[in-house]
Amino acid sequence: VKNGNGIAISTTGVDFEDIGGQNVAKKELQEALDFLLYSDRMKVLGIRPLKGILLSGPTGTGKTLLAKAAARYTNSTFLSVSGSEFVEMYAGVGAERVRSLFRRARDMVRKEKKTSAIIFIDEMDILGAKRGSNVSHHEYDQTLNQLLIEMDGLKMDQGAHILVMAATNRPEALDDALLRPGRFDRQVKVDLPDKEGRLAILKIHTTNKPIAQGTRLEEIAHETFGFSGAHLESVTNEAAILALREEANEITERHLREAVEKVMLGEKLDRKPTE
Ligand code: ATP
Repeated sequence: VKNGNGIAISTTGVDFEDIGGQNVAKKELQEALDFLLYSDRMKVLGIRPLKGILLSGPTGTGKTLLAKAAARYTNSTFLSVSGSEFVEMYAGVGAERVRSLFRRARDMVRKEKKTSAIIFIDEMDILGAKRGSNVSHHEYDQTLNQLLIEMDGLKMDQGAHILVMAATNRPEALDDALLRPGRFDRQVKVDLPDKEGRLAILKIHTTNKPIAQGTRLEEIAHETFGFSGAHLESVTNEAAILALREEANEITERHLREAVEKVMLGEKLDRKPTE
């Protein structure tokens, strides 16, 4: 559901098991999220509350999925918004959008009777570019400042815990102020999947598809180095379309192979033969 402000609110149906590979990212993320789940114990020990987690890595690797799974894992209200939604010509509009996003999160938590909310900001580099840099100008700087103010103001003992998760594929472009303690002080890298990861992703996206006996998904995983999860999802979809075109009832290894070629051509993938 998208409301007028470009904020999408949803109860997410994504579990960590629905995300293939990314075992290190999942583990690191779950450890961080336990801070949210066991915040009472953390408070007793005087541990600083967790406010921000930055997911960084190439496009299509599952960052959005991880954020959604995080919301489900912690039973949080989930609000998602893209950094580009804050880009406005007019002074103060972006900053006001940031304010209203946090207000909205607080309202939603109360309404849904949850104890926490996760605000997911995709394309964080658009909103959080280094202040004073070429891509940034005064209006963006105000917007970024407002985000920092909101994050600094988050208190975990006011009933509703709000955690901000942000995703970027250019972490080096982010303003240093964002990465300071008490802001996005947890960083989780989400890289392109290795062979095992690719196989896991292929399995996830073929469970509901009729795959011919003897199809070696391992071979497809082997041949798809450089592919992201999003590319692999496309491969399984294209393979199904090819099968449909041939009026076949099952997807064969040949369909998958042809789909790999198709996705590769379409994307002009920069494949580095590292594996
Ligand atoms: P972007 O940086 O472009 O926002 P992202 O890293 O957030 O990309 P997602 O939106 O999470 O990527 O992934 C897009 C789609 O690709 C998912 O909906 C899913 O179908 C598939 N996908 C990506 N990674 C995985 C994964 N690890 N396991 C299963 N499916 C995946």
